[in-house]
Amino acid sequence: MFLAADEPWQERAACKSPQSLALFFPPVHAERKAEKLAREAAAKAICARCLVAKACLEYALEIEEPHGIWGGLTEQERKALIGRRAG
Ligand code: SF4
Repeated sequence: MFLAADEPWQERAACKSPQSLALFFPPVHAERKAEKLAREAAAKAICARCLVAKACLEYALEIEEPHGIWGGLTEQERKALIGRRAG
């Protein structure tokens, strides 16, 4: 991937459309487990073809983002990764 040094990674995000928000973050109402899994799988499928997934994930880890799918990982998966990196 080519990303100019002064170009924010967000400019290349595959989830830039406003409709993506509904996939990447939980709804305000209660969400059934099956709905949650389906929503997360759809979001992760977008992340899987995103050119800036690595930068996105590192950003989310750095700021300890507590919500949503970032870089193809859920909040719980990011927490686990932070724990593994801490050793
Ligand atoms: S990795 Fe996923 S959450 Fe991050 S910018 Fe790409 S599509 Fe969006």
